[in-house]
Formats: sequence, C-alpha cells, structure tokens
Amino acid sequence: MELTFQQLFEKFTENYWNLILKYNLRQMSNNGKSAYSSLEKILIQAASENGVIRYLEYNSLQADGRNALVLEVKRVCKRNVVGALYGDFEGKFYGFSLKEERIWISTVVYAFLLKYKLEIEKLNYYAWAKLLEKINAHNPPTKLVDKLELATPKRNNLLFYRRILQKEFEEQCCFYCGRQLNEKVHVDHVIPWQLVREDRLWNFVLACPACNIRKNNRLPKKEMLELVIQRNEIMRVSDMCVNSIAEEFKNYSGDMMVNLWQYAKMGGFREWI
Ligand SMILES: [Zn+2]
Repeated sequence: MELTFQQLFEKFTENYWNLILKYNLRQMSNNGKSAYSSLEKILIQAASENGVIRYLEYNSLQADGRNALVLEVKRVCKRNVVGALYGDFEGKFYGFSLKEERIWISTVVYAFLLKYKLEIEKLNYYAWAKLLEKINAHNPPTKLVDKLELATPKRNNLLFYRRILQKEFEEQCCFYCGRQLNEKVHVDHVIPWQLVREDRLWNFVLACPACNIRKNNRLPKKEMLELVIQRNEIMRVSDMCVNSIAEEFKNYSGDMMVNLWQYAKMGGFREWI
C-alpha cells in the first residue's frame, strides 16, 4: 500500500484547515520559542492574506490556493513529521522516500489498520481530544470530538459520480431493485461512508430514492457485494476516456472491498435485508 506525499498532505491540510481556522483550535502551547506550530503559521498566514477565505470550507477554496497550501504543508512535514513518526515506530510501520515523495505502509500494518479502522479511529479521537482540551484550556472547546470527526467533511456533491455512472457506464436502473431510474437518482455508498470516509467511484452505485433511504447506513448482502465487485472490474479495465478513473481505482482491489465489508460487519454495521 503506497501513498504519495501529495495524497497524504492534502488530507492533512484539509484536516488542519478546519481545526485551526474553522474551529479555532490551537495546536500547541507556547513553548517559549513560539506560540504557534509551523502548520498553524502557514494556515493563519494564508487566512490573513485574504480575510474571506478563513470562513470557507477547505474544498471551496480555489484549486491553486489549495495547491499552494499543500505545497507549504508538505515542505514542513517532510522536515518534521515523516522521519519523526518513522522513528517512533522503529521503522516497522512504513517506509518512505523524501526524494520520490512517497510512503509505503507495511502489508501487515495496513491489514491491521483496515481491520480495526473504527476502533483505531476512536482511540485516535480520544487521545487527540485530550491533547487539544489541554492546549485550549484558556478557551475550552465544546463538542470537541464532533469537531475532530467533522474535520474531514463529507463531500456533498456526488453529481460527479452520478454523471460518470449514468453517462459513461450507462447505468440506468436502481442497483438494488432493478427498476428503471427516473429523474430522481440517488448515489449510494455501497460500504457506508462512515467506515470508508472517502468518496471513490468503486464504492458508488445508483439507486432509486426508496432503496437508498431504506438501505441507509447498512451493508448490502454479500451477493450484492459480489455484483458490485464484478461491475468495478469492468470499470477498472475499461478504456473509457475519463482521466480520473485510474485515480479513482488507485489501491483498489475486489479483495479490499470484501475486507472492508467484513470489517464493517465486525464494527457493528448491519446488513440490509
Ligand atoms: Zn430501488
């Protein structure tokens, strides 16, 4: 499992954008040398150059503004984070190349992370919330855990995926009940977003509003999942001229989908009858 620094620090930037600017959460106590972390400085500086942007969602920023920020964050993290964390885990967690700007996560660790995703997330929020409560004691934050959870917000506009599925792959029927779709088309996360926390083409099917609403936050039956995997395989190898298909299917495999489904069940998600 490999990630480029670009992918990694884009998420990082988005997270901290929300925590620092939207929720005003300080990230470190004054250590005598400085009152602000390097990351806080980058984002506060960007906001001071343009007073309006601090009120915007990260995803609403112009693409070149976002890129400039990621570049800065990447620069700081290359120096202070990538190697330090590598040392903390004694090199067992991941390897990295500063020159090629990528990290590769050990197979065992990756499987572990996937399997215990929900639990690890909860532990992470707990430790993070404790730290932030301490640092922000002068201005005690409310609903801190909600803020941490919301720091990587759901991308609401799924129109992009609906268009690809309808126009490029000619999906015209509800994936679940098979009825012809009319103008009211829902885009359904096959494995609930709450677990995957990312919008990717391989996890979307089109559904009629009734099925989508009934399915809600549940898992499809295993047989249905197999159909999604077959469909994904067709998409993955298609020579469709949609540039982003390769990007959407990066790190995807049918096995991964089965694993996610199983881990979701372990985590308490129920199947939809
Ligand atoms: Zn339906």
